[in-house]
Amino acid sequence: MINYFDKKLESILNSRRTIAKERAQKNYEEILSAHPDLKEKIKIKKSLELEVSRNTALKKPCEEISARLSDTEKYIKDYVNANGIKFTSTYTCPLCKDTGYLDKKPCKCLVAEYNKLIRQNASLSPMPEFTFKDNTFATNGAPQAAGMNKLYAKMQAVVNKFHTTKYNCFLLCGASGVGKTSLAAAIANDLLDKNVSVMYLTSFELVNIFLDKHTRKDTAFRKAYDYVLACEMLIVDNLGAEPIYKNVTVEYLLSTLEKRLGENKKTMFLTQLDGQQLVNRYGSALLSKIADKNYSISIGYIQGEDLRKL
Ligand SMILES: [Zn+2]
Repeated sequence: MINYFDKKLESILNSRRTIAKERAQKNYEEILSAHPDLKEKIKIKKSLELEVSRNTALKKPCEEISARLSDTEKYIKDYVNANGIKFTSTYTCPLCKDTGYLDKKPCKCLVAEYNKLIRQNASLSPMPEFTFKDNTFATNGAPQAAGMNKLYAKMQAVVNKFHTTKYNCFLLCGASGVGKTSLAAAIANDLLDKNVSVMYLTSFELVNIFLDKHTRKDTAFRKAYDYVLACEMLIVDNLGAEPIYKNVTVEYLLSTLEKRLGENKKTMFLTQLDGQQLVNRYGSALLSKIADKNYSISIGYIQGEDLRKL
């Protein structure tokens, strides 16, 4: 789990605890109004407690009051037992009592809330359900099937060892419609199932986020840039289709990638351009960062049939 959503998760837990408190208070008041004798004794108990603590502070003797207090406590206890009264706190999660943690580890309710947040922020709009299991390259007979099948297996292995793999960067070049976005969606969905934070963006969307960050507008995009840096896997689809803004597109691509690599975060680029076209468009510095053999898997260039036309 990453820290990015800490504040949000804390406020979710806070509001849960507030609700639990209100429920408990309501439950308590209902019980007392149904049992006026008990209500009276509790009132007496409170005032005796006050007197005892006052006398103790003043170092006055208070044996008599203490005795009355324990009598009252016993009365209350017996009354509660005899009438089968239960003062319950109804927590949203009885397991962690809405603290979010069990033995200092995140409770499964907190993990579920976190999972909800990362899914909301993944912006996995094109194929929100597609998984590795939905890969049909084994049977669809497309010319790129064998290659894509291998690639699926390779990426599945990376996803399975996401936190330990040395690969931090992925470049997938291929013609339009060969199946790049489906693969990206499978990767994203599998990671989300493992509670890994993912952000899926077209390069067009990403550059809009850069532009907003650059012009320092205080908008939702600005916040989106924080998540572009924070998410554990950033997937940039259709690199090459975005506008080139001076001082923004290329510069931010490079600095964003550098920051992410510096923090061991993984980034995947999908593009219809080949290596030479990428160099021409972005310069060799970006491409050598993306395709560095020490930490990259780069695949180029997948030709094949446009699956959308099959
Ligand atoms: Zn819980």
